[in-house]
Amino acid sequence: MVRKTLIAGNWKMNGLLEEGVALAKGVGQEFKKTGRRDCEVLVCPPFTLLSAVKKAIKGTRVALGAQDCHFAEKGAHTGDVSPVMLKDLGCQYVIVGHSERRTNHHETNELIAKKAEAAINAGLKVIICIGETEAERDSGKTIKVCTDQIMGSVPAIATAQNTVIAYEPVWAIGTGRTPTTSEVEEVHASIRKVISKKLGRANANKMRILYGGSMKPSNAKELLALPNVDGGLIGGASLKVADFTAIIAASK
Ligand code: PEP
Repeated sequence: MVRKTLIAGNWKMNGLLEEGVALAKGVGQEFKKTGRRDCEVLVCPPFTLLSAVKKAIKGTRVALGAQDCHFAEKGAHTGDVSPVMLKDLGCQYVIVGHSERRTNHHETNELIAKKAEAAINAGLKVIICIGETEAERDSGKTIKVCTDQIMGSVPAIATAQNTVIAYEPVWAIGTGRTPTTSEVEEVHASIRKVISKKLGRANANKMRILYGGSMKPSNAKELLALPNVDGGLIGGASLKVADFTAIIAASK
């Protein structure tokens, strides 16, 4: 049972053209130097940089992803971008259901499942984000919240090949705080059980489950060594070549 490590950078709403291209080039060059084939590296810049970053990472084996998509193929959806457009542009991945979208854009599990299904149908791989708030953790609801989010936001057509789950405790995102390694492993193991129930054991054994939330060079090694952690979704630390590269190195 081999799950290839995935280290994904979520740049969020950061980066103008020049700095975005420099960051992508830096990540690409550093990853290329490692010659590693046991690890997949992905960068997810804002929509405005996708095209330039695609050129900047050419020939480096760094993959390109977007941070969100609409569920429709095309039409009257001002300001939205469809999965087919992302595929056309050269994206291989799209993140859906990030907690910032669930909170700031009131995205529901149902909507996220629709987006994920449309993205898979367009030939993209999806990274579906889940995770509890601090109040939910404090009241002992972490496993229930994550279970409900998986049951509601992972579409029936998801497989280990087209879907990655990212467990991101909302209270750990951008705060410098993380759960303990045993708390992370407990949630990841339970996510795998829920995936098994929903999509079958074969998919559950092969599906990658990433940890996200204040992952940085100093804590990446212990988090990435956990049996059910198959990589990381990295926000702040993905904006610096040295930090992102150090996290990739910690995944060995
Ligand atoms: C994220 O928002 O996906 C994330 C993990 O952010 P950070 O690494 O900055 O906590």
